[in-house]
Amino acid sequence: MSQPTDTKVAFIGLGNMGSPMANNLLKAGFSVQVYDRVSALSQPLGDKGALVCHSLEQVLDSASVVVTMLPASEHVKAVYLGCDDEKGTIELASSDTFLIDCSTIDPDSARLVSREAQNKGLEFVDAPVSGGVAGASAGTLTFIVGGSDEGFTKANNLLSFMGKNVFHAGKAGDGQMAKICNNLILGSVMAATCESLSLGMDNGLNPDVLSNIILQSSGRNWVLELYNPCPGVIEHAPASAQYTPGFMCKLMSKDLGLGLEAAKMSQSSVPMGALAHSLYALHNRNGNAELDFSSLFEFFRNKQ
Ligand code: NAD
Repeated sequence: MSQPTDTKVAFIGLGNMGSPMANNLLKAGFSVQVYDRVSALSQPLGDKGALVCHSLEQVLDSASVVVTMLPASEHVKAVYLGCDDEKGTIELASSDTFLIDCSTIDPDSARLVSREAQNKGLEFVDAPVSGGVAGASAGTLTFIVGGSDEGFTKANNLLSFMGKNVFHAGKAGDGQMAKICNNLILGSVMAATCESLSLGMDNGLNPDVLSNIILQSSGRNWVLELYNPCPGVIEHAPASAQYTPGFMCKLMSKDLGLGLEAAKMSQSSVPMGALAHSLYALHNRNGNAELDFSSLFEFFRNKQ
C-alpha cells in the first residue's frame, strides 16, 4: 500500500470500536470516508475531517480499501454480498479495491465472503481484533488476519496504523477461528474473575486489596489487569461508568456461541466456554444485553 495520503479508505460500521479505529486512520493522514446505518455516528468523524456518507454506494465511491467493523455474521454478509434488492460491496466496488473485515464472525461466513470476492477478482481478508475500546482508541489493537500471504502483507500496512500487533493466523477464516479461541478464554476468565472477587467481598475482603493480591499471584489475568469488573477498582474501566460498553454482553454471547458452533463441527469439548455462554444467556435475559460484558459481576452480587 502506498502512503496514507494517497489511500482512500471506506470505513463501514462506526460503533464502539469502528469510530476510534477510523479516527486513528484520519490521524495518520488517510483520506477516510465513513458510513454507518445510524447516521448520527458519522458526524463526530466528519468534524475531524472524514467524508460523511449516507449509503453503501457513496462510501465505496473511489475507495481503494474497505474496512468493515460490524456486529455479527449477518451484517457482514449483508454489507459484502447484499441483501434483498440491495447490492453489496463486492458487486459495487471497483476492480482493484482491497477488502478487510475486522468484525468477529463465524469462519464459514468469512470464507464465503472471501470466495465471492475472489470470484470478482477482489482480495478479501478477515482481520478480527483484540484489545477492546481502549486498544482501539490508543491504536494498540491486536489484529488476527486470515487470508493469502499477499493479502496479509497488504493488510498489515494499513492495520499497523490502528494496532501494534498484526498476526497472520493462516488462510481465509483462520483469523476468525483464532479470535473465537481467544474469546472463549476471555468469557470464561471474566466469569471466573467475577465469582472470585464476589466470594472475597462476601467474606469481608476489600476488592481493591484482593485484586492487587491476585495481580501478583497465580490468578493474575487480563481482566484483573485492565478491565476489573468491580466498580471503583479501575477508574477508566466500564465497571466504574455504570458498565457503559465497551464490549456489550450480547457480543460476548455471540462470540461464545461461535466457539460452541466451532466445537460442534470439530467434535471438541468446551465445557468452560459452554458454561460461560449459559451465564451470559441468563444475564442477557435479565435485561443486560447492551451493558458491558463485565456487568456479569452484578449477577454474582445479586443486583439484577
Ligand atoms: P457496535 O454494535 O458498537 O458497532 C457496530 C456498528 O455497525 C453499529 O454502529 C451499527 O449501526 C453498524 N452497522 C450494522 N449494520 C450495518 C450496515 N448494514 N451498514 C452500516 N453500518 C452497520 O459493535 P462494536 O462493539 O463496535 O463491535 C464491532 C465488532 O467488533 C463485533 O463483531 C465485536 O464482536 C467485535 N469486537 C468488539 C470489541 C469491543 O470491545 N467492543 C472488541 C473486539 C472485537
